[in-house]
Order: sequence, then structure tokens, then C-alpha cells
Amino acid sequence: MHYISTRGSAPHLNFEDTMLTGLAKDGGLYVPETIPTLSPDEIRAMRALPYEEIAFRVMKPFIGDTFSDSDFQDIIEKAYAGFGHSALAPLVQLEQNHFLLELFHGPTLAFKDFAMQLIGQMFQVSLKRRGERVTIVGATSGDTGSAAIEAFRGLDAVDVFILFPDGRVSEVQRRQMTTPSEANVHALAVEGTFDDCQNRLKDMFNDFAFRDAVQLAGVNSINWARVLAQVVYYFSSAVSLGAPDRSISFTVPTGNFGDIFAGYIAKRMGLSIDKLVIATNQNDILHRCLTNGAYEQGTVLPSISPSMDIQISSNFERALFDAYERDGAAVAALMEEFSTTGRVSLSQGIMKTLKQHFTSGSASEAATLSTIKRIYAETGELLCPHSAIGVYVAEQNTESQSPMVTLATAHPAKFPSAVEQASGLHPPLPARMSDLYDRTERVTRIENDLSALEALIKERIAS
Ligand SMILES: *Cc1c(COP(=O)(O)O)cnc(C)c1O
Repeated sequence: MHYISTRGSAPHLNFEDTMLTGLAKDGGLYVPETIPTLSPDEIRAMRALPYEEIAFRVMKPFIGDTFSDSDFQDIIEKAYAGFGHSALAPLVQLEQNHFLLELFHGPTLAFKDFAMQLIGQMFQVSLKRRGERVTIVGATSGDTGSAAIEAFRGLDAVDVFILFPDGRVSEVQRRQMTTPSEANVHALAVEGTFDDCQNRLKDMFNDFAFRDAVQLAGVNSINWARVLAQVVYYFSSAVSLGAPDRSISFTVPTGNFGDIFAGYIAKRMGLSIDKLVIATNQNDILHRCLTNGAYEQGTVLPSISPSMDIQISSNFERALFDAYERDGAAVAALMEEFSTTGRVSLSQGIMKTLKQHFTSGSASEAATLSTIKRIYAETGELLCPHSAIGVYVAEQNTESQSPMVTLATAHPAKFPSAVEQASGLHPPLPARMSDLYDRTERVTRIENDLSALEALIKERIAS
């Protein structure tokens, strides 16, 4: 299995190097050269299997010979051992034909744990074998950083540094990043905004001397291994609702397009998926694009669903690559135009291809709050604001007769103030982490300055 870049001019890599590299050298994103398929019989055979076994069968064709079967089984077991629900990704019924896929039972209470826990274990096995160490640096507005720290804490082949904007993440998110006590974890509170954090991260990757000196590695959502891990729960949920003998639709609260793109891969692998519905908040670049064909950057409006507050959906480039019949030069030209003008318009042919798979909708702040309140009253299920956007958009989508599965991307206790504003209820943390507010915090405050950051990272990994 080889991986190629969406911009067509980076070297082809195997799975292991794709995972360790992240972004392709031509600025593109890696995708598999061909998408492996599973037959209806192979898919049917997944019914009633444990999540870990489904994960093995779905991901195995993509990893080639990077891990032996027994190593890969072991990696999967370890990745998901810390989840708080034995089904890992349980389905809850909201209405006659509408189900909620709860993806928030991992250690940091958001779906990002599914991918991050797995790549933590994969990095460790792979780096040990190569006799290498890496320095993972990430920038976060909250969920990605806490998931990365939780996944890499205590692994001896990795140091993990997370930059977050001081004072601008929720208290639960901050404590999840600052309370792990392992020496390889470094939470850095940067004096600045999330964009400042992300820009300093880009500067570090562009400082090739620094990059090589510390063996810099990235685990943001464009890493192919993260997308792959998310394909699994489309299979586990669809087979329990009757796939491949019945078609299933999914609605996905979307920011960077990683999670919903995993659904598209599941479909390409042969899973009977009818519609993939993109649900956005008021930052609706994708919804506008699907509606009028113009992919146009706006300014980010902060919302009560901060993990979906984006201007650019990085993983959308992977869907465009397929829509352009895998013409890397065409995608490179399109992305070049987008980065200089902030706008591209897609042809009718491209839009037609995209619409074969995707539809879209968006939810205002008011609709999000009233959905939290109403769904709690009707079903007893307390939704986080991101999941509420999904449920609202799914309900507007009356086109599909198939059972609808909405992805619940975070636990309500991760966003307690919005949930309380909507419902009057203060969502408690699950019992296994109820002492979060009593644990000691360890954090380094640092100015928004590249050389200060690089000096700190070098000093920490030397000691
Ligand atoms: C990251 C995140 C999203 C958006 O997922 P993408 O893969 O970026 O589209 C939605 N909800 C929550 C809670 C998240 O943490």
C-alpha cells in the first residue's frame, strides 16, 4: 500500500512514513494510492464483533506490513483500554429513525481520542523499532491538545509539547492538559490567540535546522493515520443497524473535514452509506460551498461550539482530489489560487461529483441552544453544543429515508457553560475523572515568540 500527495509532486510513501511525516513536502495531504474494498460478506461478518476486532479488519488493508498482525492487535487493545464504555462507540436511539453515535467515552471526552490514542501506540512501536525519538509539537484551541497529551503521556520515544492560548480554553480542557505529571508532557500557555499558536507551530516546521535538530513531528488532523482510525466507527455503527443489507446516512459536526472524510472512505470501501451530511455552525464555509459552489474564506466568529470554529477545512482538499479525478496538478493550482485570493469557485461537474456523496446544513447559536434543551426534554440525552448542531441539521435533512446516525463528538461536561445556559443543568464529569479539579496543574507560561519557544523545547528535551 502506497500513499500519494493530493498535489501530485511529493514522494510516494508507505504507511509508516506517511504517519510519521504528516504533511507532504509539496504542501499536499497524503491519501492511499488505491482504496481497498471489503465485500458484503466481509462487512456482514462484522456484526456482533467487538469494536477492536472491527478496527483490525477495517484498518489492516491500509497499513501494509508496517505492523505484524499480533503487534497491530496489541496496539489496538492498548489504545482503547482507557475508554469508559465497553462498546467504545455506543449507539443511542433519539427517535424512530434517528440514532446518536456517542464518540465521547475516551479519556478526554471527545471523538479525537479514537485517533489520537491509536497513533500514540503506533508511534511508540514504530519509533522503538527504528531506534528513534521524536518531538511532537501541536497547537490547540482545546480538544486536540488534550487528546494528544493523553495519548503520548509516559511514552518514552516521544516528547509532547502543546501550545494553547493562555486564558482562552475551557477550564476542563486546560486541566486535561496541565494535570498529567509525566516528564515527557509539556503544556505551554502562550500569551496570544489560537492563531498565534498555530503560526508559531508553522514557523517551527519551516525552520529546517530546528526541525531536524529536535526531530519535529506533527499529529494534527491532516495526518492520514488519524483519518484512518475514524473510519472504524462508521463500520461498527452501520453493521449494528443492518448494513450491508440496509443503507445508512450519517450527519457529522464538521470543522476541519477529517471526521466526515473518514465516512467517505468507509463508503468507498464498500459500506452501504446513503448520505453524508456536513453540519456546520455559523462558520459555514463548507455549507456555503456545497450550496453555491464558491469555496470562500470568511472571518472566524467565535461560537459556543469552538472546536468547529474554522476558516479553512484542511481535509476538504482530499475530497477535492477525488472530485478532480486525482489530478494533483489541478488541485495544486486550485489551492494556490485559494491561498492567494481566499476564494475559488468549483465547476458544475465538480459540484455534481461532491453532491453524490455530501449534503450540508448549518445551525445558528440560537438553534444550537434550543436543540440541547428540546432533545433533553424529549429523550433525556444531554448533548454538547457540537453534537446539538449535528442533531439539528440531521432533522432538517428529510431527503434520505435511511436510518440517520448523528455523531456526538464531545461529552456535555466538556462544555458545561453552554449546556447549562441551554438546559439549566450543570453536566457532571464522569466518575472516573471527577477528581480533575483537585489535581495539581503544571504549566509553563511563555511569550508569543519563536526563539523563546525553540529555546525552551531544546532545553527540555536535553534534560
Ligand atoms: C474536532 C472537533 C470537531 C470537528 O471535527 P473535524 O474532523 O475537524 O471536522 C467537532 N466536534 C468536536 C467536539 C471536536 O473536537
